[in-house]
Amino acid sequence: MSNFNWKRIVVKVGSALIAPSKKGCSSHYLLSIAQFIVKCRARGVEVVLVSSGSVAAGTGYFAQSPNSVPLKKAMAAAGQTEMMATWDKLFDFPTAQILLTHADLRNRERYVSVKETLFELLKNGILPVVNENDTITTDKLKVGDNDNLSAMVAASVNADALIICSDVDGLYDKNPHKNDDATLIKTVTHIDATIHAMAGGATSDVGTGGMKTKIQAAEKAVSHGISTFIVNGFTDQSFNALLEGYNPGTHFQPFEVPMQEHKHWLTHTSNAQGEVVVPENFDVALDEQSEKLCSQDVVAVKGDFAVGDTILVRKKDGTKLAKAKSNYSSCLLSFLAEQDDRAFAADFENTTGPIISENNIAILEE
Ligand code: GLU
Repeated sequence: MSNFNWKRIVVKVGSALIAPSKKGCSSHYLLSIAQFIVKCRARGVEVVLVSSGSVAAGTGYFAQSPNSVPLKKAMAAAGQTEMMATWDKLFDFPTAQILLTHADLRNRERYVSVKETLFELLKNGILPVVNENDTITTDKLKVGDNDNLSAMVAASVNADALIICSDVDGLYDKNPHKNDDATLIKTVTHIDATIHAMAGGATSDVGTGGMKTKIQAAEKAVSHGISTFIVNGFTDQSFNALLEGYNPGTHFQPFEVPMQEHKHWLTHTSNAQGEVVVPENFDVALDEQSEKLCSQDVVAVKGDFAVGDTILVRKKDGTKLAKAKSNYSSCLLSFLAEQDDRAFAADFENTTGPIISENNIAILEE
């Protein structure tokens, strides 16, 4: 690519583009996206597609509107095949369906397995089409929106760019659907509270995402060093511009020094199964000296976690300090923290090993 020297990209397409009438899929808006994907591949750029649309596609098969969770799940099951078939007929190379839940991504072993499958598909010239597995998710298991899912997928395949196709030209300083004087923000160098505030709660009325989840996705992606774009997916001008090396919407610049892969996964993909509360004056530089977290520093253990689960280390005043992989279960840690005999607990930890090992901790910035 001219200005964009990409080797691998993730393109995210929402329900409003694939099922604009909210009943069944249409290739109307997908043609230019498919052409973009074909041209990228012809230039040697590997592409992963994250596509919504299963619920919207399945709605037409049911008498009722999607007014309950089981009904939505059934619609997703019925619509997923139509969504895949709609994409499939636009390409003369094979596509592969990958359905994921957050449970697959927050578990390191399963995450690595997903990653390996994606790489194998790309290596063999097959286009992976990823969606959330809505049929089997529960509130606790789901990512919830395909914007965040696309950022997690982009991080897993180490993409150079994430292109989120929206129903507007990009991020505006106010909601463009309600304010005529809204201005498009062309470049975002740092995602801060002002940027989050601009996204507000604006949502598309077909998908579950909106500008809010797109900013969350951009935040995840840029910290991995992934250049992120929000572009208008309804017009082929967006894709022509990208092919020519220009930004047609909002460009979120990637971190110059991306987070290490494992720390990124801990921060942005894995979620905490429980919490370890430490005193307010706990100021050990956890990052370098994570092994300094001892049971005697633990004020409280919250939640039910097992060895290997991700935990949140929080100060008593509520400040989030770090996310880390725990080498101890919540049960054992509570037991040790409650011991009056500190020598016994210290001996135990010396023999068994640290609560958190080096490289398995990501410091959080609040
Ligand atoms: N997974 C949902 C679907 O296929 C869409 C989620 C989203 O729009 O973000 O309908």
